Amino acid sequence: MPTPRTQLMEIPAALVPHIPLPRLELLSDARTRGAKCVWGGERLTGETAIDLGVQVTEGGFRWFPRACRRCTRDAVRAARDIHPDRCTECEGPTALCETRRALHDLLMELRR
Ligand SMILES: [Zn+2]
Ligand SMILES: [Zn+2]
Repeated sequence: MPTPRTQLMEIPAALVPHIPLPRLELLSDARTRGAKCVWGGERLTGETAIDLGVQVTEGGFRWFPRACRRCTRDAVRAARDIHPDRCTECEGPTALCETRRALHDLLMELRR
């Protein structure tokens, strides 16, 4: 049986660690379960939610953040802009690393 195609955005798993999430201890239960947007607290549906994958704390607690498109876009933009300052692979604005480029592509996709 063919998998149904959806319009849902997926954040590549390799990029999620580069997108800073809110601190877990500050979040309501609904936000750690993915029922509400992890950033803004908007209620999410299966059609609108962007999955940020399973997160595991150092203590082994698993949580499942999801987010609305608008907040994800803001977070990805922030992650993209701050990235080169923290990255040892980026060598200035003309020599950006793969991760920086992937963050930028993701942001373009979220803008559509
Ligand atoms: Zn949101
Ligand atoms: Zn970089």
